[in-house]
This record gives sequence, C-alpha cells and structure tokens, in this order.
Amino acid sequence: MNDTLPSRLEAIRTRIRSACLRVGRDPAEVRLVAVSKRHRPEFIRAAYALGQRDFGENYVQEMVEKFDALRDLPDIRFCLIGHLQRNKVRDVVRIGASVHTVDSIRLAQRLARLSQEAGTCTEVFVQTKLSSEPQKSGCPPDRLDELVAQVRELSALDVRGLMVIPSAEEDPEAARPTFQRIRERAESLGLKDLSMGMSQDFEVAIEEGATVVRIGSSIFGSRPA
Ligand SMILES: *Cc1c(COP(=O)(O)O)cnc(C)c1O
Repeated sequence: MNDTLPSRLEAIRTRIRSACLRVGRDPAEVRLVAVSKRHRPEFIRAAYALGQRDFGENYVQEMVEKFDALRDLPDIRFCLIGHLQRNKVRDVVRIGASVHTVDSIRLAQRLARLSQEAGTCTEVFVQTKLSSEPQKSGCPPDRLDELVAQVRELSALDVRGLMVIPSAEEDPEAARPTFQRIRERAESLGLKDLSMGMSQDFEVAIEEGATVVRIGSSIFGSRPA
C-alpha cells in the first residue's frame, strides 16, 4: 500500500488552497477529483479514509468494478473522465456516476433516456476540444453552443459546465490560454463549472477559474502499466 498517500494528498490540498488564494478565490469553490484509474480499490479506500470523496476513472468497466468493491463507503462519488461509449451508458447510470465527457447529442440523449428510466438525474460536463487539435473526443468549438443548448433541453441531465484536456506540454503555462478560452466560452454560455487541470497544470487551471481539478499521479503515484 501507498504509505506516502496522506502526505501527497495533503500537499495537493495545500497547493489547491494556495492557488486559490493567489487569485482571491475561495478554496471551497474547487472540487478535487482524485483520478484512481489503474489503481486498486484499496487506494481509493485509503484516500476515502483521509476525507476524499470524488474519484475519477477512464473506463466504465473498471469504474463499475471499483464501485461494487467499495459499496460500503456510503457517500463516495465516481465520475467518468474517459470517453463514454453508448453501449456503456446503462452501467454509468446504475452507479450514479457523473460524466465529464459528453461530446455528442446522441450520447447525451441516451444518457438522458436511461437516467429518466432509472428515475435519476445525471450530472454532466460537455467536453470541448480545441480548434487545431487532432483529439478524438470533444465537441469542436464551433459546434459547442448548439450542443450545450441541446443538452440543456434534456431534463434528466444536469449540465454543470465544460471540460477540457489541453495537449500535454512540459510547461504548465502553455495550457493557460486554453483554460482562459474555455472559461470565456463557459461564461458566455452561462455555465458555472469548469473541469480542467491535471497533476501537471492544475494550479494554472485554478488561477483561470477551474472549479473541478482531476488529479491522479500527484496523489496516487505513477500508474501501474
Ligand atoms: C488520467 C487523467 C487525469 C489525471 O492525470 P494525472 O496527470 O495523473 O493527474 C485527468 N484527466 C483525465 C481526462 C485523465 O485521463
């Protein structure tokens, strides 16, 4: 087990607080999602014991297995931060996970329909990609307004905000213009949450308005292959 977890988690909490204070934000506005992908459920249990409640996973199958293994933790919350295939939507709804990667109306419609059937409302973020990037996932910026408007029509979805994954760069400052751009888009759409910032660049993301940061390796260490 990871005996450095308490100090790593505490260090991240401190860095989140400092980043908030640098720009005059209330640290309570920023939610930490601990990205537990590829780590065993015991890691999640240990972080939970330290007060962490939100966990991020990339694969539905893996997320569901962990949810089932950790059923005794009453208020644990999972969010899907990897691409969601439409044939996996039912599993996501069953465990009440939020979805940070809604990037098409067809996916949103299916998520809404199954949420409604289950009598729940699913929290979602619309994932947007950046103009020139060859990323597979994410709504292109020129179609974002339309997609957000359509998703908002679906009453079984609670549209929280936008999510973005900037291209990986050595220098966290390289992501700042992207974070600024996404924040402006969210503001113009009247969306208040921004899921942006990972181990590498979360402080810059917070300075630019992130309300959800998704941090994995800085909390749990490097991921097993
Ligand atoms: C893996 C992952 C993270 C966490 O990355 P770290 O660099 O380990 O903090 C955050 N967001 C997404 C979408 C991811 O896939």
